[in-house]
Amino acid sequence: MKSISVLGSTGSIGKNTLKIIEMYPDRFEVAALSAKSNIKLLATQVMKFRPDIVAVGDEEGAAELESILHNNNTSPPAIVSGEKGLIKAASESKADIVVTAVVGAAGLLPTIAAIEAGKDIALANKETLVTAGDIVMNLAADRGVNILPVDSEHSAIFQSMQGQRRQDLKKILLTASGGPFFDVPAEDFHKITPADALNHPTWDMGEKITIDSATLMNKGLEVIEARHLFDVDPSMIEVVVHRQSIIHSMAAYRDGSVIAQLGIPDMRGAIAYALSCPERLDLNIESPDFFDIGTLTFLKPDMKKFPCLAMAYEVIEKGGTAPAVLNAANEKAVSAFLSGAITFDSIPVIIRQTIDSLDIISKPDISEIVLADNQARGYADKIIATFI
Ligand code: MG
Repeated sequence: MKSISVLGSTGSIGKNTLKIIEMYPDRFEVAALSAKSNIKLLATQVMKFRPDIVAVGDEEGAAELESILHNNNTSPPAIVSGEKGLIKAASESKADIVVTAVVGAAGLLPTIAAIEAGKDIALANKETLVTAGDIVMNLAADRGVNILPVDSEHSAIFQSMQGQRRQDLKKILLTASGGPFFDVPAEDFHKITPADALNHPTWDMGEKITIDSATLMNKGLEVIEARHLFDVDPSMIEVVVHRQSIIHSMAAYRDGSVIAQLGIPDMRGAIAYALSCPERLDLNIESPDFFDIGTLTFLKPDMKKFPCLAMAYEVIEKGGTAPAVLNAANEKAVSAFLSGAITFDSIPVIIRQTIDSLDIISKPDISEIVLADNQARGYADKIIATFI
């Protein structure tokens, strides 16, 4: 029996993880769950999966959860709250593996705590490696902990590298759907509404990542994530726009061979592989029907039209706290766009100004990364205020 903690259990990755656990009750059990604010759904999950420990966003949420469970005659698990509670849920359960599916940089400290506690990580929170990739990968190696990718592209690369010699790898080809505005001219970007941007053509995901997909920042964050996960130079990572999202990414080798992983877009594939690799589980997912698909297309990304992708490559070169600054400014800009405070084309402008204005620390420790993240958020807020 594998014991699993799901941090961010009410989000898209969290719900899909629980679907897989539910399909295989003889193999998987739930050790801990966490949700920031969707207490009603969390309560349903607690009643179904009976974790030992549950973390919620704040004390109000904890009280609400306790009262729902009480009214349903369910003896409550240990309920903890806030950032400290999330860290406790990540590290102090009996879990063998922790699925980190919380949104944004909030995932960093719980992930580090789980690694320190010796738990394998099924990494769905890409910001962890974006903000602190060197520290996290070194710590994982130190503790003998596996970091298993849940992001579909990284899972595809991971799968395409099984049985291969690392020194034979020549290039990673990271595929991108291109998002909903790939064919929209840049001069029309200011008219894009949150509703337009939330309508992703191929993947059904949470709000923040869907906006990141529309700006191609998601692909930029994935380049940074891949750089750390597979320990490759950024020059070895090439983004390929592949509108159909059938090829989930590829690995090219020195003999000219390219190995790809394909599937219809369904995030359960990558989640299940992280939980059970090298074994593959029956998920009731059909293989792609190639006669139905007919054509697969490949294009170069337009970095001028989508400057977020170019900025991601730039912050890898800058190193240190630069990726954390990029990420924090992006989180602020995306939430300002979602609340209607700024236009879609202002997102990269805010990130650009934040990167250009803050000092970068070259070999930061975790506290310096957290500080840089906070500073960048404060700075981005100030710029956003001038747009309103
Ligand atoms: Mg992805």
